[in-house]
Amino acid sequence: MIEIVDLYKYYGERRAVGPLSFSIEDGEIVGLLGLNGAGKTTTLRILACDLLPSSGSVRVDKIDVVEHPHEVRSRIGYLPDTPPLYGEMTVAAYLLFAARLQGLSKAEATKRLREVLESTSLTEVRDQLIASLSHGFKQRVGIAQAIVHGPRLLVLDEPISGLDPVQIVEMRELLRSLKGEHTILLSSHILSEISETCDRILVIRDGQIAASGTEAELSEKLAKKHHQHVEVTLRGDEEKALETARAVAGVLAAELIDTNETGEDITALRVESDADIREALCKALVAADLGLLEVRRGERELESVFLELAGAEANANAGGASPKKKKSKKSSKKGRSVGSSGEPVEAKAAETQEGGSEP
Ligand code: ATP
Repeated sequence: MIEIVDLYKYYGERRAVGPLSFSIEDGEIVGLLGLNGAGKTTTLRILACDLLPSSGSVRVDKIDVVEHPHEVRSRIGYLPDTPPLYGEMTVAAYLLFAARLQGLSKAEATKRLREVLESTSLTEVRDQLIASLSHGFKQRVGIAQAIVHGPRLLVLDEPISGLDPVQIVEMRELLRSLKGEHTILLSSHILSEISETCDRILVIRDGQIAASGTEAELSEKLAKKHHQHVEVTLRGDEEKALETARAVAGVLAAELIDTNETGEDITALRVESDADIREALCKALVAADLGLLEVRRGERELESVFLELAGAEANANAGGASPKKKKSKKSSKKGRSVGSSGEPVEAKAAETQEGGSEP
């Protein structure tokens, strides 16, 4: 449905996108994920024939966007990052207007209106002024205008941005319900927002594809690049536990970490290795007469995976348990909870931007 080969887009001297190549099959729902300024909007605008590429080839349904923009537009429904809504119109009047702009006859537009209101769950607000709707409903109207002419491809720029948690769930359901009839390409800068909705994720970084795959494939890819971490909770002497762990073949490092388990002599360790050493580690700890309570793989947090792929290396190690600040057993029993960075991705992305090379 989409085939992009060696696309470049320059704004003056500045390269916003390129070299960019990817393709999307009929019926897929794909997320274009990147930090602010990565080139998402530029790519989507080119696909929607709203912007000309500097070079390269962009085809939608095998039709070139530069040579035949009108034919491409009739196949695409586009939701820009700021939906083109008129607050003083009712939902129904606006959607009829959008349908007529797309070239539908009055009769066709009226018929489509009913279908679109239903599929986007807008029937109950059809006679309400758009200005009086909540942000979530306005986004739905934006999607309704994008699908009103029955396009095969939907290009949605940050459709989930700014929605509250309930609206996010509703939007996910709406997008998945549209999947049968449309191929969908949507953008976001928050992995968790789209990982559940999309069949595949394309991570865009500096105008190029940095990685692609399902969320699980992306996590796996990074796990292979990095050392493995195992977190162990046990009952026994801290020093003995550290010594025992460090003596296991394959272990590169071991350190004490905070645990929120309470109890006499509870100790938690994070062990770094270049292979899966869980079995050997457990045997060694038991042989050393340490009371083994729990062993688990240290999981990288979803957002840290994305941040590393998207180019924010400085923040990429945010996942995992925090190292123990003090060795005193009494003071560290109620430490930070394991595996929570507690910081939203947007905040990290903003920090990165401030320290980055954006103008
Ligand atoms: P955001 O999520 O912030 O919209 P994005 O990933 O969509 O980011 P783009 O808007 O495509 O990124 O921008 C890519 C780069 O091109 C950025 O560095 C941006 O500053 C630059 N850029 C975008 N539009 C223009 C323009 N009209 N003129 C000059 N530079 C631009």
